[in-house]
Amino acid sequence: MVKFVNRNRKNLLLSCILIFFLTYGCTSVKLNIFEYPKPVDTSSRSISYQDKKEYNINNAFYADNQFDGARLNGFEQLNDSTLQVTILPENEPINQSPHYAFRIWSKQPQVIYVKLNYPTSTHRYIPKLSTDGQHWKPIDSTAYQLIDSTKNALLKLTISNNKLWVAAQEIKTSTEATNWSKQIANHKDVRFKTIGKSKLKRDIIALDIYEGDPKNKDVIVVLSRQHPPEVTGYLAMQSFVEELLKDHRLQKDFRSKYRILVFPLLNPDGVDLGHWRHNAGGIDLNRDWAYYRQEEVKTVAQSIVDIANESKNKVILGLDFHSTQQDLYYSFSDDMHSSIYPFKDYWIKGIDDAILNYTPDDQPFPLSQPISKGWFYKQFNAESLTYEIGDETPRDFIKLKAEVAAREMMKLLILR
Ligand SMILES: [Zn+2]
Repeated sequence: MVKFVNRNRKNLLLSCILIFFLTYGCTSVKLNIFEYPKPVDTSSRSISYQDKKEYNINNAFYADNQFDGARLNGFEQLNDSTLQVTILPENEPINQSPHYAFRIWSKQPQVIYVKLNYPTSTHRYIPKLSTDGQHWKPIDSTAYQLIDSTKNALLKLTISNNKLWVAAQEIKTSTEATNWSKQIANHKDVRFKTIGKSKLKRDIIALDIYEGDPKNKDVIVVLSRQHPPEVTGYLAMQSFVEELLKDHRLQKDFRSKYRILVFPLLNPDGVDLGHWRHNAGGIDLNRDWAYYRQEEVKTVAQSIVDIANESKNKVILGLDFHSTQQDLYYSFSDDMHSSIYPFKDYWIKGIDDAILNYTPDDQPFPLSQPISKGWFYKQFNAESLTYEIGDETPRDFIKLKAEVAAREMMKLLILR
């Protein structure tokens, strides 16, 4: 009887120890909730899915949306020489970033007009053309005009039985982001990680960059593509990261002093579904950095705070790459002093001095909405900027400026 009781006590003790470790042993740091002057309800809302199909007009004209990143909601013939493509968003309300991407072809080679019709929005992106979905060039300006008081667009295209790709921006899918990241991870200082899943179970990927021991290295975080059509910001992010990985003295010293966490694609569902702005939860992810109601933001935010906590790292800078009508930086207003203040002023001045005939457009504004920039400041007292690239900024300039921006950042931070 005594033995029996003792064994039970021993089992109880072991159970308590097990429960303690299961509860506290691997627990993540709890994410802080933040309040903003203009809170945003980021609870999931329904989205409409495209009818993925091949359209056929009288066995003469064809179009399809059967590839990742596509967006085509209707295809019809208006008259002998004009076809109409209809483009709709994933849900509404939504901002004016009408992404389109489709393939078009015909039985007989011919020149045809194609009207881009936006029932709920206004044309924004100059069409890019490709014959293989990989190599793109903007449409010739003489073959493109705005119509219907600039609401819609009319393209003059030469089509044949070879499929012609027409898209708002170069198509960069979640597969491309993964392939690029894995290729980057061939570098010895880069670790490729899958940190979680999106709402529709696509991988959320990360690159963890440093040389030596990660402990006690201050951290720079790079985010990209919360908004699906913002490909130019994504291209800038790629060139920025590639510059950090060159094997020159500056870069090597930087990687042994700092840790860089890169999240190349925050919205893989939105990108592959050809969304204008939102994730599969129908929400603008860059309004969810307070309550983390969307899986993608929650996963990335949790990953950043856990890594910082585990390795006793201090996050000092968060850079979020986006696209808008022109190149600019959304920065903090002057009353906000991050832990590396006034880094931003020196950094932007450095980029300005390094590039001839280019004056950076710094647009400071106070924290009003729950965007990533505010989260870095509130969570870590980190400096943060939204690095915005124009929709039509020349691609070689995007690369040049991103490389300069990376070098100027390293030069400043290496001296801390
Ligand atoms: Zn954006």
